[in-house]
Amino acid sequence: NSDLILAVNAVLVNSDSNRRYIVKDILGQGTFGQVAKCWVPETNNHVAIKVIKNQPAYYHQAVVEISILTMLNQNFDPEDKHHIVRILDHFVFQRHLCISFEMLGVNLYELLKLNQYRGISLKLLRLFAKQILDALLVLRDARVIHCDLKPENILLTTRLQSAEIKMIDFGSACMENRTVYSYIQSRFYRSPEVLLGHPYTTAIDMWSFGCIVAELFLGLPLFPGASEYDLIKRMIEILRDQPPDHILRSAKNTSKYFKHVGVSSRLDENRTGEGQQSAYRFLTESEYEAREMKKPESGKRYFNFDTLEDIVVNYPHLNRKKMTEEEIAKENQSRLAFIDFLRGLVEFDPEKRWTPGQAARHPFVTEEAFTCPYMPAPETPRKPVSQIVTVDHNPGSGHWF
Ligand code: ADP
Ligand code: MG
Repeated sequence: NSDLILAVNAVLVNSDSNRRYIVKDILGQGTFGQVAKCWVPETNNHVAIKVIKNQPAYYHQAVVEISILTMLNQNFDPEDKHHIVRILDHFVFQRHLCISFEMLGVNLYELLKLNQYRGISLKLLRLFAKQILDALLVLRDARVIHCDLKPENILLTTRLQSAEIKMIDFGSACMENRTVYSYIQSRFYRSPEVLLGHPYTTAIDMWSFGCIVAELFLGLPLFPGASEYDLIKRMIEILRDQPPDHILRSAKNTSKYFKHVGVSSRLDENRTGEGQQSAYRFLTESEYEAREMKKPESGKRYFNFDTLEDIVVNYPHLNRKKMTEEEIAKENQSRLAFIDFLRGLVEFDPEKRWTPGQAARHPFVTEEAFTCPYMPAPETPRKPVSQIVTVDHNPGSGHWF
């Protein structure tokens, strides 16, 4: 089970086509293996190659990545217009599955870091949001769930002076009718239905998308949960809401985090705004500790504000000295539209959460005047499943290496 050590100038070969790839740089490393920047002498350009560890779990995951991405590229985005990374080639080299992709630039987490975690302007954020929504629209039509949307998996293209981005890393993706795994999504971007062990849909990517756009604006994650308990606690506090009863009633993990208090009990007024009644109450830390026999991990507090509204309105300081009154008024107006946009994305109920199409028509995105809360028109039904191209999970030989 020797692992391939990738060094600069090492050569990877696709033995079917005889195409050679010369390693120039290591771009990333993870549990799956490594990503290398490679030069292709045949075409004199660069590609990014993901070299997968030769272990069955990683091999199978990579096979799914190849089949889903190939299907998306060929059948749903043949002209490369929808901000999804292009897969170029795949082959087995010295018992390692290798996947080559178009070469892209820095990821959005690196961009935030380069900007000292100060967040980006709503103007640039709008450009990014449009493109991510464009990709999510394609995924919804294709009935693909990405399952790992986060700033690290959205990359700038290498075109200079452009704000073009692409979605990468379909290594956790699945078809909507084959949701096999329950432990998915990176914690900060994990949706309430996944946390609660409830059946999930493409709506989980919209939750992650909401967390991403909030983070791009703030520079820091909106829900940096140090544990799942801490994550739900933060969501409830910041959103002043909790998962709807119809989810809590049937979800597998509800009793880990909530106490059934019967239909007559009132939920803390502060938390619902509307004073709705819920049959469930979030466990206090000591109740959780007594039930799970361990203290929940709890992390740092980044914002000195309690609600989503207060954080967005107050946290990223305006440099008022450098702005005209008119600019300040416009920024404040944009922030109000942005809060309304976020509200439909980090919505506890996946049925009410906006779809990519509904979010794309929000005034924040379209730049129409924002006057009152956005009420999206209901979505037209999607194509029946029979017309959807299904994925062949078996490129080449069926065994792993
Ligand atoms: P993982 O499943 O380990 O997250 P990714 O596909 O996300 O694997 O790749 C890991 C990292 O490698 C990315 O976060 C990015 O920094 C880099 N990377 C991946 N694909 C590309 C690409 N096409 N161009 C440039 N860098 C890439
Ligand atoms: Mg990744």
